[in-house]
Order: sequence, then C-alpha cells, then structure tokens
Amino acid sequence: MGIIHVLDERVANQIAAGEVIERPLSAVKELVENAIDAEATTISVEIEGGGVDLIRVSDDGRGILKEDLPLAIRRHATSKIESFNDVYKLSTFGFRGEALASIAAISRVKITSGTNPQEAATALETEPNGSQKIGMAPPRKGTVVEVRDLYFNVPARKKFVKSAGHEAALIHDFICKMAMGCPDICFTFANNGEVQFTSNNLSTTKDVMAKVYPDCEPQAMIAFHHDDFYQKMAVEGWFCPIHVTRKTRAQMVYFVNNRLIESSELDRIVDEAVYTLIPKGRFPVCVLRLTLPAFNIDVNVHPSKKLIKFKNLDEWKEALVSLIKEELWLTKLDETITLANKPTVVELDEKPMPVRQTLDFKEEAPSPAATSLENMMKARVMASSQAESVAEPTVAYAPAPQTLPPMATKMPDVVQVASEPEEMTPEKDATLTKENLLNLEYIGQLNDTFILAQDRKNLYIIDQHTMHERILYERFMEEARENVIKTQPLLHPELLTLTPMQEDTLIKNIMTFAQMGFVFEKKGPLAYAITALPAVLSKEKNLAGLVHDFLDELEDNYHQGGVAKLTEEAIILASCKAAVKAHYKLGEDEVKNYLLPALCRLENAHTCPHGRPIIMSISMNELYSYFKRGHFNE
Ligand code: ADP
Ligand code: MG
Repeated sequence: MGIIHVLDERVANQIAAGEVIERPLSAVKELVENAIDAEATTISVEIEGGGVDLIRVSDDGRGILKEDLPLAIRRHATSKIESFNDVYKLSTFGFRGEALASIAAISRVKITSGTNPQEAATALETEPNGSQKIGMAPPRKGTVVEVRDLYFNVPARKKFVKSAGHEAALIHDFICKMAMGCPDICFTFANNGEVQFTSNNLSTTKDVMAKVYPDCEPQAMIAFHHDDFYQKMAVEGWFCPIHVTRKTRAQMVYFVNNRLIESSELDRIVDEAVYTLIPKGRFPVCVLRLTLPAFNIDVNVHPSKKLIKFKNLDEWKEALVSLIKEELWLTKLDETITLANKPTVVELDEKPMPVRQTLDFKEEAPSPAATSLENMMKARVMASSQAESVAEPTVAYAPAPQTLPPMATKMPDVVQVASEPEEMTPEKDATLTKENLLNLEYIGQLNDTFILAQDRKNLYIIDQHTMHERILYERFMEEARENVIKTQPLLHPELLTLTPMQEDTLIKNIMTFAQMGFVFEKKGPLAYAITALPAVLSKEKNLAGLVHDFLDELEDNYHQGGVAKLTEEAIILASCKAAVKAHYKLGEDEVKNYLLPALCRLENAHTCPHGRPIIMSISMNELYSYFKRGHFNE
C-alpha cells in the first residue's frame, strides 16, 4: 500500500498558519486588511494578553452575507480574485483566501457580521476541531472578528511569542502606521481595556504623524506630492525635520498601493537621499507612499504580503533618490536662510561653552543621597516584576573631584591606538611616547583650534577638541569602572513620551538605567518624567532624545545591551558635549596647567572616543630634510 496521502484540511491550515500567522501581530494585520478591503471607515482593534488571549477587530465595512460566512473561514475561499492573473491587477489587500482559515485553525474564532443595519446579523463560532455554530445576532452593518487563545493547539509556535508587552507594542506600532497611511479611516487601539491610540479627528497623514511622533515638529515637517513622477506613478512623502532622527530604521514607513510594506530597496533609496544630511548611523522618521499601476508590482512574494517586488525599479530608483533629495535640500536651504537672518540664533548654536565651564571639573553638588534613593525606590517599584532577577543597583555617590584623578592604569611606554573604526584610525605615530608627551613645551594656539607644542626633536599639532574629549572620556570611564558614577537629580524633571516599544524596553531595562544614574517616574500612559540623570550628562540639552536613542538601541540589540555598553555610550556623548570646541581661544594657563599635563596621563592619546585623531607630530629630522639642511643633530 502506498504511503502518500493528502493532508486533512485542518492539518493543512495549521501548517499554513505557521507562515501566515507568525505572531499575534500577523493576525491583527490580516483582520485589519480585511476590514479595509470591506471599505470600513472605522476600525477598532482590542487585544488582551498581547493578542494571545484575545484579538477583537470591529469594522463598519460592507459585512459578510449569511450564506458566505461559513465559506469565509475555508482555505482558498475569497471574494477578491477569480483567476491567477487577477493578482496583478489587485485593488485589495487580500487575495489568498487563507487568513481566516489559518487563524481559525489555531484559535477559537467568532465572526459576527451583517450587511444591513436594519436586518439581523449572523454569528459564526468555530472550534479548531472544525466544529461550527451559526446563529443570529443583533442588527449591524459591518464585521466583528474575535480571536481567542491563539496558538493554544500549536505550543511550539507559542514559544516564539515574546512577552505580552512586546507583542502589544508591535501591534500598537502597526496600528499607528496604518493610521498614518490611511488617514481617512478612524483607527482605535485598546490594550487590556485601555485605549492607547486613536486617530479620531485626525484627517491627514501629517496630523497622525504629529500625534505618533511627539517630537516631530509638525510645522517644520517636509511634505511633498508628485502625481506624475514616472509613468503614472505618484510619490508622496512626509519627512520629520532632518534633525529628528532615530537610531534604527523602525520609523521609515513605506506604503505601496496602500499596502504597508518592508523594503530594503526603498531603505536604500531613502538612505541615499539623506546621505550627509543626517549623521551616519542615524535614520529619518518618514512616511513614503508610492502609487503605481498594479501590474508593476508583485505582491505574491510572501504569504504575509509584507514584501513586494517592483518590476522596473532600475528605471526609476535614481530619479526617486534625486526627487527626495531635492525636497529635503530645498527645505534645508530655506532653514539656513532663516537662520542667517537671525544672527542671534546662529550665535547661540555655534558659540562654544565658556572655558570656565568646560574645563572646570566642578559639578553641581549632588543633592542628599536620601532624595535620590527615594527616587531610585520609585524606579524599583516600577521594575518590581524583574527586580528579583536583577542584582542590586550599585550607584555610589562620591563627592565630585576637584582635580583630575590620576589614571589608575599604568601608562604604557608607547601609547596605544585603541581599536577604533578602520577608516578613522590614524597612523600610529612612533614619536608619541610617554617621555615625549611629558616634556611638551607650549608654543601657542593655531587658528583657535589647534595647540602647537614642541619637544627637542618634534613639533606637535594637537586638536584641542578631540584631546579634551579624550581626557574627559577617560576620566568618566574611570569613574564608571570604580562604580562611582554620580547621579544628579533634576530640579525640573524632563518629560518623556515613549512609543509602546520603548516603554516595554524601558521597563525591561529599568535596573540598567538605574545603575547608570537615571531615575524615571511614570506620569501616565506612555509618559514618564526623568527625575535624575547621570551627572556626566548634566549638560545634555536634548535629554529626551538621548533616552529615546538608548531605548531604540537596546531594543535593536535585544540581548546585547547591558549597562557597560550604554554607560560607555553616555560617556562618549557627554565627553563630546562638554569638551572645548574648535575656534575657541584658550588661555595659556589652561593649556599649560591643565590640558597638556592631562594629555600625558592619557591611556590613549591617539584618538578621541569617536576615532578621530588627536595629535600629529613633525620631527626635526623631517624639517631638516625638507629644508635641505642636512642631518639634524640635537
Ligand atoms: P482574503 O482576504 O485573502 O480573501 P481571508 O481569509 O482574509 O481571505 O478572508 C476571506 C473572505 O472573507 C474575504 O475574501 C472576504 O470576502 C470575507 N471577509 C473577511 N473579513 C471581512 C470583513 N471584515 N468584512 C467583510 N468581508 C470579510
Ligand atoms: Mg484577508
């Protein structure tokens, strides 16, 4: 007897569900797309337990006829296409007819739907064993799909689902993005009974973005719309002002023919357009929407339909880069013009911090430890769910040192080059030895930017900013190693609005932040106040932005984060901000009595923490040979 047999439909559906319903978000996405396909204008999504316990999507769309209802949950049953070629002229999200069947194969589903507000609606309940109950329901136009106990019969899949908080955050993020892309539809999202987002009364993409990104300065947002970009293709874009950036690509949002997609091709196009406008390693916050003839894309690339293939990308990608670039540069130019008209603003921005402040190590005295500890307790209460598994925070409150503390580590004979980014690592200079640096004699300042110094055999040119940056960095790192990181309470707590994902990351890492010296207090849904911060960051102006970056980074490197890495990043940033800038006149005293002696004590006098060079030397030998003076004799 043969051993090949056709799989039972239930088993086939469970297998398909593995691809289509990867996580609770996938089910939400399918249900929301069905509602949009049914031309709903109001869509509400409620979840419990991260979507595993319950997902309920309600819409006011055209509804499902009573006789169609049992079919809707059959595999390959769809009202959207007839033949394969229809896939290439799609105007709907769905076409595979497998979403409801897949969901129903791995959960308990109830669909209530009506097509006429004056007539009774129909309710269909399914059990994953295939049994169905159908009955009457109160009149309504539209559909409610309830999904309970997702994955209850596929425990292997359930293991891949992360915490409820994480799954809820993903769903929240998705709903916000859909609301940006479909501003005509009113979306509402409720998590465990709490409404966390609604696009009610927001009628444009810009309005929704302004709500989703509280830091986006809607009045400065760059928006453009080109109807005839390339062969019947329309391009619309909304970019937050270019100084609003993120550490990850998570807020580069693309819609192609209304479909929210992920696209490494569009990533590259936007990357190229913002190149040099936005610092390396940072990403813009934007929505880009392309509308093109359906036959120019293939959406049938992956069951989840979140990837698509562009048929003729090579023909227009360069032009799209130029178009976005022009829009962004135009605005940037405008900005410069306005700034130039207001010299005070320019001056404020570019004026370096006075040397008194930047070179003085005195910091405002930390307030009594008791207050900070009280704040710490608040942080700890918030983190109570993880507190057991995390070591006690070891924040120490040491009085601020008045002078540069000696480096604990032994100064090597030849100063070492740190392992910094390849392209930025300067040639190792053999003249930079401990003895040489000890005997530097100050000559003067060049262009208020470089310090000139000499010893008997060499001329040294030192970048005052990178040198000071390195001095501060090593000092702060030393404090961190000795666990005497100082926390500084904020007189005026800084308010912070987080995305759900950032909040989830914050709660998971609250002890890490506490160890760094941060204290947060919850103020409301997604709202926190920073009540204390690491003293090294006390001069940071955009504290909220910095915390956002830390959180995005932690989320990105889910398992790698850790207090050491974050602390170092905070320190690099603080050193850069606090260090004396270029084009700043230094007093002879400051160079002779503070900067040069501190330079000799550095562990690495070659590069600043970003990898930029600090010092170069020209030997007398080189000078003699250049000027054809024969051999240099001391
Ligand atoms: P697809 O969307 O690929 O057609 P689905 O399994 O998602 O497949 O849905 C099957 C069918 O059920 C759809 O083609 C549609 O006719 C109907 N349907 C599903 N959800 C809704 C809804 N919210 N409103 C109206 N009809 C719906
Ligand atoms: Mg569908």
